Amino acid sequence: MSNESKRPVALVTGAGRGIGRGIAIELARAGYDIVINYAGNAAAADECLALVREAGGEGRTVRGDVAVAADRERLLAETIAMGGQIDLLVNNAGVAPKVRADILEAGEESFDYLIDVNLKGPYFLTQLAARQMINQVGSGLSSIFGAPRIVTITSISAYTASTNRGDYCVAKAGLAMMTRLFAARLAEHGIFVFEVRPGVIATDMTAGVQEKYDRLIAEGAWPIRRWGHPEDIGRAVAAISRGDLPFATGEVINIDGGFHLRTL
Ligand code: NAP
Repeated sequence: MSNESKRPVALVTGAGRGIGRGIAIELARAGYDIVINYAGNAAAADECLALVREAGGEGRTVRGDVAVAADRERLLAETIAMGGQIDLLVNNAGVAPKVRADILEAGEESFDYLIDVNLKGPYFLTQLAARQMINQVGSGLSSIFGAPRIVTITSISAYTASTNRGDYCVAKAGLAMMTRLFAARLAEHGIFVFEVRPGVIATDMTAGVQEKYDRLIAEGAWPIRRWGHPEDIGRAVAAISRGDLPFATGEVINIDGGFHLRTL
């Protein structure tokens, strides 16, 4: 049974602020209704909901910690309650280490925190959503954009060694493999899985290191000499989510101003 008369529904984790907000707005513009997950900043999530509505979508805000199993279950349940199904999962929520510390000094507490939020949370949320999506596909449920999809926001840190935040890099490298794993497992169900790999994006996460990146940009650290913005990531996710890449899965989309290019 096709469900093409209603708007498809996307669950975007960490959507209150920053990149997640940019994704929510662009998805609303593309035709999705949005479940806006956030960790604690309800005011930011409400602002995001207002912007989603301005962009032509509907939505709801749902507080929840992706690192907590019961919260992940509730997030999925709220999505189904809103839209009857889940058409898109965007794993965006993520945290930076509270303190950048050399890998010869950094402690286990920071490691566990980063792995829990940035890797284990999205891994098991993806597992949960994937089971639901398989059931939907089995029942013939689809949307105007076809079968459901999964997009995970990683980072250039998935392959770039920053020795003062090894925990973050290791988590993002794990997420890159997670995309490949679920892409390989879900293709037979017609569910395609993508990784969007941002470069340096202007958000609260990078506000504390703004001067460093201003300098690097001026020195040409990446070919497109500007900061990335949440909208840059949102537009990439929207392109994937409209189904414009029908013969691709497990693909990495670098939205990094060309940082990944090696130049000589
Ligand atoms: P941000 O501005 O710090 O926003 C993070 C968002 O995630 C907030 O909405 C926050 O909720 C939410 N969040 C944090 N911990 C959570 C948890 N445990 N459960 C659910 N939600 C949680 O970060 P950002 O810069 O937009 O980063 C978003 C993603 O992009 C992250 O995965 C990050 O690693 C990745 N990324 C960022 C950059 C960059 O340069 N900024 C580059 C590459 C990749 P509250 O608002 O409630 O606190």
